[in-house]
Amino acid sequence: MTKRTAASKSVAATVKLTARGAQRLLTRHPWVYRSDVDAGAANDVAPGSVVRVQDQRGKFLGSALYSSSSQIAIRMISHGPVEDLPTLIADRIRASIEYRKELVHQTNAYRLVFSEADFLPGLIIDRYNDVVSVQILTQAMDGAAVRRAIIETLKKELQPSGIVERVEPRIRDLEQLPPRQSGLLWGEKTGTEVEMNGVKFVYDGLEGQKTGAFLDQRENYAAAARYAHGDALDAFCYQGAFALHLALQRDDRCSSVMGVDSSRSALEMADRNTALNGRELEWIEANAFDLLRDYSTANRRFDTIILDPPAFAKSKRDLEKAYAGYKELNLRAMKMLRPGGILVTCSCSFHVSPADFIKVVADAAQDAHKSMRMIESRGAAKDHPVLLNVPETRYLQCLILSASD
Ligand code: SAH
Repeated sequence: MTKRTAASKSVAATVKLTARGAQRLLTRHPWVYRSDVDAGAANDVAPGSVVRVQDQRGKFLGSALYSSSSQIAIRMISHGPVEDLPTLIADRIRASIEYRKELVHQTNAYRLVFSEADFLPGLIIDRYNDVVSVQILTQAMDGAAVRRAIIETLKKELQPSGIVERVEPRIRDLEQLPPRQSGLLWGEKTGTEVEMNGVKFVYDGLEGQKTGAFLDQRENYAAAARYAHGDALDAFCYQGAFALHLALQRDDRCSSVMGVDSSRSALEMADRNTALNGRELEWIEANAFDLLRDYSTANRRFDTIILDPPAFAKSKRDLEKAYAGYKELNLRAMKMLRPGGILVTCSCSFHVSPADFIKVVADAAQDAHKSMRMIESRGAAKDHPVLLNVPETRYLQCLILSASD
């Protein structure tokens, strides 16, 4: 097979959808699966090119980015024609930066572009103070002209000291893109210091999970700190963000704060973050399930517990196991809470719906013989927009609960 790369200004090929594919677009979801693309219609389309999308009768439905390998063959990018993809992408990046001006406060670390939720499918851009981190997840976003447009726009709009690219090898493989290393795309800095809600963090653009931090929890850190008190435990603490927010509360309502995580490198960063804020905190390297079990056997009690585990349901097949995991964690935490205690419990599994998550936490409360009051039901920070008709953009849930006396 000869590989052609998308020329930025060539005439767009046309892709016809099946009736079901066209119907899907009417729901304002931007994805069409390969099985809903008219067979034969996409045989000669260059990987990563812009295509004109039509229904069965030839009616123009808009323009999309085409992937030759992903199950998601079509990702809509415009309801009209696209003259020049790099220009459109530069415009959309500027619009995303503008959108956040009103919504993002008290931080110099936040998501600037969130893929479909910012009408830029396959592109994620996070800002960490003067370092910008880019993730490219589709063939179209990987084109040389598009890459140039992304870098030039970020340089012009943000004047960063460095732009790094974080590569997800598994996704490049799925998209049949040549392997690449994570590294500096432009400038000189790959690491820096950032601040969220007045708490400082060390940032290393080439280390850690996601693009380095869990920026989607930023507003939840501040919310948790509003209610936390007494002895606090941050389970699945990663680099210590919840714990540090609790320890640095202005009115010092937490008498002790400790964090647990199974990743030693995450805890080393947690230590550096603690020092950066002029504090000392206890970080425990352990399996949080085991630690909670041991603590509850030993009758340890807490006034505040944070549960922010990794996504237990990566696919629909894992759902049963995921529910069992969430239930066990929440049950143990509730049993360990003193009367009036606060539980901050999160799920970042998109497949676990908000209603199902509440149900599983409610089941845990029933088994723990506790009446829990829901103080807040929260999602991701506002720099991670939720597109109403794209459920995949509403993946993070954070419940703040108060235990009965
Ligand atoms: N609360 C963190 C993000 C947590 S991400 C923040 O806001 O920054 C989930 C974390 O769970 C990761 O750091 C991962 O290392 C850790 N983890 C995964 N399985 C674990 C287990 N069984 N026990 C303890 N930690 C675990």
